[in-house]
Amino acid sequence: MEKKLVVAIDGPAGAGKSTIAKLAAEELDYIYIDTGAMYRAVTLEALRRGIDLADESQYTFMDDIEVVYINDKTLLNQEDVSCEIRNLEVTRNVSLVSSLKIVRDKMVYFQRLSAKNGYVLMDGRDIGTTVLPNADVKIFLTAT
Ligand code: C5P
Repeated sequence: MEKKLVVAIDGPAGAGKSTIAKLAAEELDYIYIDTGAMYRAVTLEALRRGIDLADESQYTFMDDIEVVYINDKTLLNQEDVSCEIRNLEVTRNVSLVSSLKIVRDKMVYFQRLSAKNGYVLMDGRDIGTTVLPNADVKIFLTAT
């Protein structure tokens, strides 16, 4: 019987994780989950709300937020924000926002949820170590 594998691809920024993950997912007919896009969606929401991005106590909206990566689209509370999350302001601030525990805890929860049925390939810097420590296949991708 075909096995429902979960594949984790970790590695530093710029190594080509998402390029490889997308190609492999296509080849295997697996679902690709872009975890960076999910952190970008939270960053967009925080920017829209005009909060002090460094102040974790202002992230009360994390209680109700829903971030889903599906069919190569990023949905923020069911709104398709796939294009908007690539803008300069989001790109400048995503590193700060994704460093906050309140943000990471919720995103890790969503990421685990999307992997629970297998046939999934997920990339990010912490997937094999934190998000999916029991992944069937773990790849640490580096490149010069
Ligand atoms: O991959 P991408 O550049 O779109 O990711 C945006 C940012 O989100 C990264 O630069 C990193 O700061 C953060 N990130 C993270 N953990 C992940 C994926 C991305 O902290 N698993």
